Amino acid sequence: MSAFALSNKAVKLMKLCDLKGFESLDDLLLLAALTDCVCPAICMTEGCDYTAEMEPDQEQGFCEACGGNTVTSALVLAGLI
Ligand SMILES: [Zn+2]
Repeated sequence: MSAFALSNKAVKLMKLCDLKGFESLDDLLLLAALTDCVCPAICMTEGCDYTAEMEPDQEQGFCEACGGNTVTSALVLAGLI
C-alpha cells in the first residue's frame, strides 16, 4: 500500500469525524465499536464527501452522491477490521 493511499484514508477519516460532529477520532471509533450493526462511513472518491451509516466491515458501499461503490466504514479506514 502506498503512502498516498494511507494519507488519503487518514484525510477521509478526519473529514468523516468533522462531518459527523465528533471532536476526536477516538470518539468516532468508540461509538462505532459500541454500536453493533452500523458504523459511520464515507465515500473514498476524491472531492466526494458523502457519508452514510454502513456495516462496520463495509468497503464497497454504494455512494448516492457519485454513484460509485466507494463508501468505506470508519473502522475499515482506521485499520481496526
Ligand atoms: Zn461518492
